[in-house]
Amino acid sequence: MKLLFIGDGQLGQMLGRSAIQHGHEVLLYSTREHTIKPLSAQLNLPLSLAEAIRWSDCVSWEHEDIPAEVLTAAQAKFLFDTNRIKGLTDRRTEKQLFDEQQVATSPWSAFSTPAELTEILAHSDAAQVIKAARGGYDGKGQWRFQPGDAIEPLAQTAGQQAGIVEAMIPFKREVSLVGARGQDGQIACYPLVINIHRQGILSHTFAGLTEPDTQLQQQAEQAFAKITTALDYVGVLGVEFFVVEEAGSQRLLVNEIAPRVHNSGHWSMQGSSHSQFDLHIRALTQIPLGQPTIRPTLMLNVIGVAEIPSALWQDARCQCHWYNKAARPGRKVGHVNIQVDSLEEAEQWVTEWSPRLQTLAD
Ligand code: ATP
Ligand code: MG
Ligand code: MG
Repeated sequence: MKLLFIGDGQLGQMLGRSAIQHGHEVLLYSTREHTIKPLSAQLNLPLSLAEAIRWSDCVSWEHEDIPAEVLTAAQAKFLFDTNRIKGLTDRRTEKQLFDEQQVATSPWSAFSTPAELTEILAHSDAAQVIKAARGGYDGKGQWRFQPGDAIEPLAQTAGQQAGIVEAMIPFKREVSLVGARGQDGQIACYPLVINIHRQGILSHTFAGLTEPDTQLQQQAEQAFAKITTALDYVGVLGVEFFVVEEAGSQRLLVNEIAPRVHNSGHWSMQGSSHSQFDLHIRALTQIPLGQPTIRPTLMLNVIGVAEIPSALWQDARCQCHWYNKAARPGRKVGHVNIQVDSLEEAEQWVTEWSPRLQTLAD
């Protein structure tokens, strides 16, 4: 098949490589440069976007913030109602979806102006997180509020664009579920993985390193099925959860969803029989999803440093991915998947290597 991916960042490239492995031809569309880039296809470039869309059998994406003109031009080639994609780029419609589908999430309210935000904060007697409705990632576009904090200056800053206020959740840990839904509605999910964030950015993921919790896995898969079925979604989708403890038992609250391959699924490139990129390609091209097997893996993000040290490139337990991006503090520039035998061993790797692999913003 001929596949066109919107976005030419690391996710687009990893999707493209998996597609090539499956025998497909691939073009990437850079939404920054407005250019078409080939990954494999023997084509006469430059191609315009319109020509690339005509060339393709199917259009998919690495990030959901797809320019409106691309959505319109490629409408017939998406396997998914393009109007629904737009709703997923706004936290207000995303939260509404959780409420409609009765998927538990932190209590929230929406605001459109500084005055509305002031009103909400003035009535809150617990800690809150304020999030811009659109465009936030890696914890950007977020503010914290504690009762007693000065409201006006915060409302003036955070209220410059529409957003949501949600209760700060004293979570026990953060986990995510990455899974795929095929065109026939069939679903395949990986086990829940544990995610550690630093300054709002995913630092590392522990996959297959703790005893699976059947009850939480079931809750997560139910949420995944409700959300993807409501969207009539095709492809890989990531769901981020908070694990909360109530009356001695644990339950999940959805934090947010990512309608695409997800950073917390990168471990699967080394730790699974089929990576999340493979699952996405399978879903797009109607190959049965199968049930991926897994091996214990640590995924350590490489953030804001100029290179991955050669000791890791040389270590057979490590699979290094370098995105060929300029390093800036807080910017993801690669990841390393590490084959480990236990959580303790994974934690040792993190202690030893994260200071050398991660430079966060001050
Ligand atoms: P991503 O890069 O995952 O898309 P994002 O910018 O969309 O991140 P969130 O996932 O909403 O942001 O928040 C980033 C992190 O901030 C979360 O992983 C969590 O650690 C913390 N956080 C967000 N919302 C809450 C909340 N309501 N209560 C407690 N912590 C929160
Ligand atoms: Mg997000
Ligand atoms: Mg997140």
